[in-house]
Amino acid sequence: MTAIMSETSARVYSLGEFHRFEAGGAHFLYLVPAGAIFAVDGAVGNLIDRLSCGEVPHDRLVGEVAAANGFAIEEAEELIAEMYHANVIVAGDSVPDQPQPLPERFPIQTLVMNLTNQCNLSCQYCYEFGADKVATPEGKPKFMDAETAKAAVDFLLAESADRRSIHITFFGGETLMNFPLLKEVVAYANRKAGEQGRQIDFSLTTNATLLTPAIIEFLSQNHIGVTVSMDGPKEMHDHLRVFANGRGSYDIIEPKVRALIQNHRTRPITARVTLTAGVSDVIRIFRHLKQDLGFHEVGFAPVTTSPNQLYAISPSGMDGVLEQFHILAAEYLEYALRGESHGFSNVSDTLAELCQGVNKSHPCGAGLGLLGVGPSGDIAPCHRFVDSDQHALGHISTGIDREKQTDFLRRGHIDSKYDCHTCFARPLCAGGCHHEAFVRYGDTGHPNLHYCDWIRDWTHTCLEIYGAIAAKNPGFLQQFAERKAE
Ligand code: SF4
Ligand code: SF4
Repeated sequence: MTAIMSETSARVYSLGEFHRFEAGGAHFLYLVPAGAIFAVDGAVGNLIDRLSCGEVPHDRLVGEVAAANGFAIEEAEELIAEMYHANVIVAGDSVPDQPQPLPERFPIQTLVMNLTNQCNLSCQYCYEFGADKVATPEGKPKFMDAETAKAAVDFLLAESADRRSIHITFFGGETLMNFPLLKEVVAYANRKAGEQGRQIDFSLTTNATLLTPAIIEFLSQNHIGVTVSMDGPKEMHDHLRVFANGRGSYDIIEPKVRALIQNHRTRPITARVTLTAGVSDVIRIFRHLKQDLGFHEVGFAPVTTSPNQLYAISPSGMDGVLEQFHILAAEYLEYALRGESHGFSNVSDTLAELCQGVNKSHPCGAGLGLLGVGPSGDIAPCHRFVDSDQHALGHISTGIDREKQTDFLRRGHIDSKYDCHTCFARPLCAGGCHHEAFVRYGDTGHPNLHYCDWIRDWTHTCLEIYGAIAAKNPGFLQQFAERKAE
């Protein structure tokens, strides 16, 4: 006991690593090494202010905290001990919080099946067609066949053995160009999962050009989540989302999207917008997709390309996007305080991560809980790496190449990204998309340092929204406890 007391007395405290923010009239700390949010009361605020001026030895700090707050010595000791264990304040013997280490086994939860690498559109920014495209090797099939698809399902069931709930997402090219196979996979996967007493759910991404009433009915009956790649009102959507002859695709998809939203009753329908130099009017796009067409959720992602492409968004363009994100985020907060859903999924996805205390070792599940499989059966870290020999992580007939997988994950781990080690956004960002890093820097493990200020600003904004909701309508946050972001 005496030894513990003297150990404690010997401590010299300084501030831990956190990002301080105010929201909804309350004060919070985002404890970065833990990825946790901590509400700050007056006494904690005073303690932090005191240590902002420099290190303070234990006994002196106890006396000052007691005097500043009218506490008994025991109360001051208790507060300091609590803050020390939460790593709000640290001393030489603190045990730092860490992101998850690389696990020894990585059971898969999600398999992204690229049913084809063919597309009936020629969107100029698409990684399938753009200058940043990962080379497609010669001699690989353009469409997945049934044998490969079923082997992929068996592979998922085997590699996810201890997970009760698993997920298949269909991707392309244009996914619906191989709709007969999609139907076959759903039937096969449901039967196989059922035999093992496990649950499997499905989603797909489509450009919506090939939707028919029969397909919509199938998607609805089978509870298949749908994300439509759509860039806004006609003049914006048709800017880059064109057929090979240059004709825009808006007029074809608009009635199909309306039919999808009206008749697919079992899952929310999401629009995913790719922002480019000519398509960055976020608010107008959001209004059109949410209010005019009726999408339940709308999410935005800036195009991932080299900065030399004409459609790349300039730094000032990204600032404009951020300003508009702020406006929609403020609107989101108003809705949330009334208990209503707003539909701006960039906020919802981040709130989900904050609510779940996410502290990422890697930016996403690629290569970890998520794998992609291409038409040839090659395994890739995710759908974006499919058909890249350089990034293949094995084949479904031979299994995962553990050496390559470990190398991919080791390089993508936050511990390897030294530039990120002092960044408060790292529990959520963890260096950003591996594929974007490869396109920009030629290395999947390189942090995406071209937009750090942007990411930090957006993270701060989402923290403020979280704090304001937590202070004024905390029940709203419960829906995010289980929600998964991509
Ligand atoms: S990439 Fe930039 S924003 Fe993301 S964690 Fe690293 S330093 Fe932070
Ligand atoms: S964030 Fe990038 S690497 Fe991760 S799953 Fe998405 S596209 Fe793939």
